[in-house]
Amino acid sequence: MNTKQNPEPIHEATAALNLDPQVDLTTDLVPDLDADPATQHCGTIAIVGKPNVGKSTLMNALVGQKISITSRKAQTTRHRITGILTEGVNQFVFVDTPGFQTRHNAALNKSLNKTVLGAVEDVDLVLFVVEAGRFNDADDTVLKLLKPGVPCLLVANKLDEVNSRAELAPWLQTMQKRFPFAEFVPMSATHKADVGRLLNICAKYLPLQPWFYPADELTDRSEKFMAAETVREKLFRFTGDELPYTSTVVIDKFEEEPSKNFKRMIRISATIVVERDGHKAMVIGDKGDRLKRIGTEARQELEKLFDAKVFLELWVKVRSGWADDEARVRSFGYE
Ligand code: GDP
Ligand code: MG
Repeated sequence: MNTKQNPEPIHEATAALNLDPQVDLTTDLVPDLDADPATQHCGTIAIVGKPNVGKSTLMNALVGQKISITSRKAQTTRHRITGILTEGVNQFVFVDTPGFQTRHNAALNKSLNKTVLGAVEDVDLVLFVVEAGRFNDADDTVLKLLKPGVPCLLVANKLDEVNSRAELAPWLQTMQKRFPFAEFVPMSATHKADVGRLLNICAKYLPLQPWFYPADELTDRSEKFMAAETVREKLFRFTGDELPYTSTVVIDKFEEEPSKNFKRMIRISATIVVERDGHKAMVIGDKGDRLKRIGTEARQELEKLFDAKVFLELWVKVRSGWADDEARVRSFGYE
């Protein structure tokens, strides 16, 4: 007989970790523009985890706008992307990282792994993201990169996909043995209240220091970079799992032109670089249909993002074997 039934096992688990489950869920996302720099808090928070656990979704939700791209396909976030949120006296500088790649060992993957390593050094807080109730070798590989010196929260994401919350309590206990996590945050990046709660928890770890960025800044990434990321998101969205993640997007031209009819007008020319002729055909689609859809969706999104009229020209090129060629990887902008 189950005599020790507990209707809220998660709260019991969080209490064991000294986390107040009743933390204020409301946040009002307004910076205090009059905040005296002497009262400002500012810190860098790295979001790490294996591919597909929801890091980019989480960062988008935290920052409240689409900064980092999300996709069903793993590995779409290659660069380190910064999202900035200023609220009250607090400025959060979130760093999203590519999933730590364990399957392949080409030059590109070495570059990805270096980006992850760079992101976890020199930060004030690490959010280690896993899928609630799960942990495998890929998660472990990322966990091994974390140093005990920096406080780390265990973000157990996709809580909505967990059938029985009771199962999480024993899982949590094994997780506590793996690493000295400062706090345990079961949540869904897709639930607003959860994201607000996580934000409140993060706020406690921000050091007292003046803000790094202006209060209205959302990202330290250039518009050119955002253009490439947006095209890449649409590329993967419309090719599904068919296209290898080594396909990339290079911006050949990004020019703002004066216009009588529009506040801003931007002309962008981009090349989708794929590895094989077959991939090129896949991207172009039947009578160019797919490429057209990729272009249209990317353009519409960029127009919203830049608040501008955008002309977007897309090309597809085959650049066989580039993922294994270290020099070429560098020339595409990966360090
Ligand atoms: P990343 O590779 O870690 O950056 O993961 P993404 O943010 O790209 O998300 C991978 C997939 O998980 C996407 O399809 C998301 O919509 C989905 N996802 C992210 N967070 C949640 C969540 O809280 N619940 C559910 N059910 N799905 C989520
Ligand atoms: Mg991502």
